[in-house]
Parts: sequence; structure tokens; C-alpha cells
Amino acid sequence: MEDNIALAEGMNQIWNWLCGVCGWRGVAQDLATDDNTEEWWVCPKCNSTNIQDIGWHKGNKKHYE
Ligand SMILES: [Zn+2]
Repeated sequence: MEDNIALAEGMNQIWNWLCGVCGWRGVAQDLATDDNTEEWWVCPKCNSTNIQDIGWHKGNKKHYE
């Protein structure tokens, strides 16, 4: 998990979803959908269902509004 976060270092986007497979980060609107999965929502990069909402981040830091 920490390795995945480190991959995107320098990125200053606000995000809350993290893919545990490829390290993709983004917001719910960016997620892809797959009717063949139970979860329906999948990573837009690698189509994995191993995605989770880990709370808002800005870049690599926790972000509080
Ligand atoms: Zn992914």
C-alpha cells in the first residue's frame, strides 16, 4: 500500500480512492464500472476491484477540508 502511494509522489491532486493493484488514485467520478463484478466499481487503469476509499488526500498527505 505504501509503495503504491509513493509511486505517485509529486502529484498534487485531491483524491480519496486508491487501487491496491496498480496504485491508481482518483475520485469516485473517475472510477470505471464492470457489470461482471459484484462490486461494479473497478479501477479505470487495471480494472481491478481491489479499490478502496481511504479518505481525502492531497498529493501524498491526508487532506482535511
Ligand atoms: Zn488499478
